[in-house]
Amino acid sequence: MTLKKKKYKSYDVLSLALKASPICMVLYAALPITQSIMQTAVTAVATANFVDTATAILNHTRPYKDIYPALVFVLITLGVVNTIGAVAKLTASRVSVNLQRSLNPAVVKIFAAFDYKHIENEKSWELISRVSRDPVKAVTDGVDALIQFAQIIVSIASVFVLIVSQVWWAALVIFLFSVPMFWLSVRAGKKNYQAERDAEKFNRRTEYLGEVLIGRENVDERTLFGYNDTVNRVWQEQYEAGRKLQVKVTAKNFMISKGSSMLLALISLLVALTLIGPVVNGRMSAGMFMGIVSAVFGMIQKLGFQMSRSLENISRAGEYMKDFSEFVALSEAEDALTEPDADPISIDSLEFHNVRFCYPGSREYILDGLSFKLETGRHYAFVGKNGAGKTTITKLLTGLYTEYEGEIFVNGKELRQYPVRTVKAMFSVVYQDFAKYYITMKDNIALGDVHSTGKEAEAAHLAGLDEVIGKLEDGINTPLGKILKDGQDLSGGQWQRVAIARSLVSRAPVRILDEPTSALDPISESNLYRDFEQLMKGKTTIFVSHRLGSTKLADEILVIDGGKITERGTHEALMARNGQYAEMFETQREWYL
Ligand code: ADP
Repeated sequence: MTLKKKKYKSYDVLSLALKASPICMVLYAALPITQSIMQTAVTAVATANFVDTATAILNHTRPYKDIYPALVFVLITLGVVNTIGAVAKLTASRVSVNLQRSLNPAVVKIFAAFDYKHIENEKSWELISRVSRDPVKAVTDGVDALIQFAQIIVSIASVFVLIVSQVWWAALVIFLFSVPMFWLSVRAGKKNYQAERDAEKFNRRTEYLGEVLIGRENVDERTLFGYNDTVNRVWQEQYEAGRKLQVKVTAKNFMISKGSSMLLALISLLVALTLIGPVVNGRMSAGMFMGIVSAVFGMIQKLGFQMSRSLENISRAGEYMKDFSEFVALSEAEDALTEPDADPISIDSLEFHNVRFCYPGSREYILDGLSFKLETGRHYAFVGKNGAGKTTITKLLTGLYTEYEGEIFVNGKELRQYPVRTVKAMFSVVYQDFAKYYITMKDNIALGDVHSTGKEAEAAHLAGLDEVIGKLEDGINTPLGKILKDGQDLSGGQWQRVAIARSLVSRAPVRILDEPTSALDPISESNLYRDFEQLMKGKTTIFVSHRLGSTKLADEILVIDGGKITERGTHEALMARNGQYAEMFETQREWYL
């Protein structure tokens, strides 16, 4: 299923379900509606027929055997009503299964194609998590609600037809009283969804804190720092705040639905009283009176509870579809899912020209007139304090953010003019928070090159993983991490080597190492950079670090401060200059002795 960009309305849940499961959806809609007619009008007629026949038999105006067809009519009606209900449930579950198969992958595909800025932005991230949490449930709930609503309308209509055929003005009275009910219910539904959205913020926080409290990932730190009580307290505060919000709305809704069902009870009483007159003066049979009155009383429940609930769910589906439209509209980067070029272009020069950049939603310029030029085959080190903007530079280079001022030239052409797949193939980055994939070591490494050429073992060797692989039960094919059966976890440093091996299999002409070594001690970090530098001889590399253990290896060092390059040169030149770099190096000197 492909999801078009458009304004989705609540009724679009029907078209989504219809697309996913046409036959079952038609059945699922038709069956309950037939059931409603059977349940109300046909049951009323069957009851009327039975009561009138029985009365006639008692009055000896009809023979005793006439009761049998009347009884069979009643029994068949009851039987059909129940069977239809069961079959409808079955078709509903098929619709849901088919939606799982087609809607979920479509949503995941959009999710995967999101521009990076939407993932990092709190507001759009909230929208994304709201929509993608359980789209199938949201759609099936909407479909259920619409079908339930149609059922109610059909029930009301069929009883109406029956009443109109007997006493027309009673139908008018019911109609007039029902209109404000609709309005109240729709409003209640909207309010409830809004409150849920507000409560969502708290839920997300409690979910995260819950993970910190009981998750497997944090077990070491949790035990060591003993922060359970503190986090628990925060969790409780957030949970309470979310819960209070929800309770308030539920209470309000309860009052509204109770009030409206009392109103309806009054209406049905009114109908019963109104119809007594025609029965007494013989314009309506006693059987028909009983049939209609029991159908009207039976409907009270539907009108009072089901209708307000289904209207509430319809407006909830409407609100969801509003979010859904925004969600689909966010997926602007069609290119995002394209694979990197199989044959990367070679990069002769890379230049930032007066680049200024602030993150979306912020006015602070993280890069403020940044200019530098890098040449092919050389090793560069970007240094600067934490927060100086070093990682931001790599995010711009790799095309994660394109809304910067100034220009970034690759081989003299602006980066934004290259197709996404070409940009993707230009750089390979090992980030500070590189990912640990709980799959085999070989697959972990192979992820570095989607056009995998089977060089995983060689990359593992170059990244110094031979010893680790030797100890693993199944060598390079051993699953890593704690979640898989037979999975083996690695140490922080070993995971880092896996991440580096991943970057080695990549055919990108420029490699960036963005502090992937921050978990290592300075000496191990220096060693790792030295190994990497050896491996990368003659290739363009950028080391990003706030620690200077790696910088001596670089052909040139660029110091970043205040969003600009403040110093540039070799280690020796910068030391001789006795400026910012020299000062940083002196402060850190003892780490490397
Ligand atoms: P460095 O890599 O030099 O430590 P970064 O480039 O990671 O620094 O961050 C530079 C500045 O940008 C920091 O002040 C950080 O708070 C800010 N920043 C980073 N990511 C975002 C973001 N997604 N939204 C807003 N500000 C951000």
